Amino acid sequence: MNKKQGIIVVVSGPSGAGKGTVCKCLTDKNPGIFLSVSATSRQQAEGEIDGQTYYYLTEEDFKARIKNNEFLEWATYNGNYYGTLKEKVENQTAQGNDVILEIDVQGAMQIKKTYPHAVLVFILPPSWQELEKRLIDRNREDMEQIQKRLETARKEIPFADKYNYIIVNDDLETATKELESVITAEKVKAQSCKNIVEQFKNNI
Ligand code: 5GP
Repeated sequence: MNKKQGIIVVVSGPSGAGKGTVCKCLTDKNPGIFLSVSATSRQQAEGEIDGQTYYYLTEEDFKARIKNNEFLEWATYNGNYYGTLKEKVENQTAQGNDVILEIDVQGAMQIKKTYPHAVLVFILPPSWQELEKRLIDRNREDMEQIQKRLETARKEIPFADKYNYIIVNDDLETATKELESVITAEKVKAQSCKNIVEQFKNNI
């Protein structure tokens, strides 16, 4: 039987919604689902690993790769470049693996145009107050940086209605299950099974 092509799942949401944790939880449980590693020109933070958290590039290198058409999508976010490397994602989907792109709304809108069959999932916190609380409680940044993230969140949240699915991350386990269900459903959609049906048609 033909192995199905993997699907591309875009996950966005404001910083503090917990999208990273949900995606990690899901990929830890499902060996056929991979989290795409993006490239960025931002500084490597403590605890982050080159090649695992991001591929850290200089701004110059990043711009050269844009010119070279190496990105599926790219965007600037808080003054830094972020992008998804085409080759890495296409290699995975060709092998039948599903790939999650945890990217911002600008990147998501580019993917929607290039890959109309990609599934777009927006992760929301349970409330605005909870988002503020999570950003403060994680104690990673000063108030000025937190305000900046909240400002960005105010611009990002209105894009939620351009996504296919919305998951409210109130409880990690529930949110992870919901994302898993979305992927399962997408994989059995008639559109994703075209090659299997074709094979049957040729043999009956
Ligand atoms: P951070 O600096 O906190 O790791 O990421 C900042 C933002 O950049 C997050 O909203 C994250 O989803 C987004 N981001 C990370 N990688 C990419 C990417 O490859 N493309 C785009 N468009 N956004 C990305």
